[in-house]
Amino acid sequence: MTAHADRLLLGPGPSNPYPEAVEALGRPVLGHLDPDYLALMAEISDRLRAVFGTANELTLPVSGTGSAGMEACLASLLQTGETAIIGVNGYFGERLCEVASRGGAQVVRVEAPWGTALDPADLLAAQRANPGARLLAVVAAETSTGVRNDVAPLAALADTDTLLLVDAVTALGGTELRVDDWKIDACYSASQKCLGAPPGLAPVTLSPRAVEVLRARTESVRSFYLDLGLLHEYYVGASHRYHHTASSTMAYSLHAGLGRLLDEGRDAVWARHASVGGKLQDALAKRGFGLIADSANRLPQLTATTLPEGLDEAPPRRALLQRYGIEVGGGLGEFAGRAWRIGLMGHAANERSVLALLGAVDELLG
Ligand SMILES: *Cc1c(COP(=O)(O)O)cnc(C)c1O
Repeated sequence: MTAHADRLLLGPGPSNPYPEAVEALGRPVLGHLDPDYLALMAEISDRLRAVFGTANELTLPVSGTGSAGMEACLASLLQTGETAIIGVNGYFGERLCEVASRGGAQVVRVEAPWGTALDPADLLAAQRANPGARLLAVVAAETSTGVRNDVAPLAALADTDTLLLVDAVTALGGTELRVDDWKIDACYSASQKCLGAPPGLAPVTLSPRAVEVLRARTESVRSFYLDLGLLHEYYVGASHRYHHTASSTMAYSLHAGLGRLLDEGRDAVWARHASVGGKLQDALAKRGFGLIADSANRLPQLTATTLPEGLDEAPPRRALLQRYGIEVGGGLGEFAGRAWRIGLMGHAANERSVLALLGAVDELLG
């Protein structure tokens, strides 16, 4: 096993963590019931509230990656046979359907072609057709296609009995996301995309209305490990009842990454992602790359692009990694084999990343 060289991580995640987040990994390990650890968790919850834009009391990092956040929300909010309306315009919308149906929910799909955005009017119409639906779920930033789905108009669900669940794995810390203003009831993310920490934790927040749904369940949550009610009791309940051995190492790291983000400021971080993403996209278009998402719904933190002249994507992607230590992702679904997915997320969202990638691309393809 040889030591790996430093990578510039410009794929769909993980991104290069902030130096503070890496340094924090070396702190002494704390027990999962140590008062210092519980105080650290409380500070993380405060920082997450600031980043999510919420006052929600139930705001905590679930152990695991973004998928654990997805499973925790779906398992905790849905009971067998309940209806979940899910927006599907890429891989992660499909994943939501898969997880919800494995959990015994009835899934109502609302689709848009890969590479285009969902129409919020279609989602709201599906809710009117299924007024008893327990929740409606949408991916804010579809990492498979680089498309931004419009979440704000879905605030209208607050006047119905249907909860709004948002996948913010790639959105949080990268582009505008306002949990309370947009009346989002449940939202999850991941430490390793725009939050600037390594993979391992999935921030989750639930509105008071979602907590009521969780409390009113007649069926226990099928997953013990991902039961948000039990996790909440462990982290904030007076007794801090043991639930699982949560990792203080990961907690320190996320705490540090969130600290960097909040020192810079949420608006400034969004502006930085917008600026470097736009710069990359303009430069790629000039070189004959095709931007998959149209400009109105294009994410800055994740660019999905076809290669010039229909080039096969895999050989130059391998060369980028082997010769220059730069990672980008390959296309998914109908874009497999002919597209790259380029992330400019968190600490890696800077001009140096853009210039390094363009320089390497020019040498390989120019
Ligand atoms: C990465 C991602 C996930 C899954 O997160 P993991 O950390 O890989 O488990 C879910 N949704 C979206 C939109 C993602 O980009």
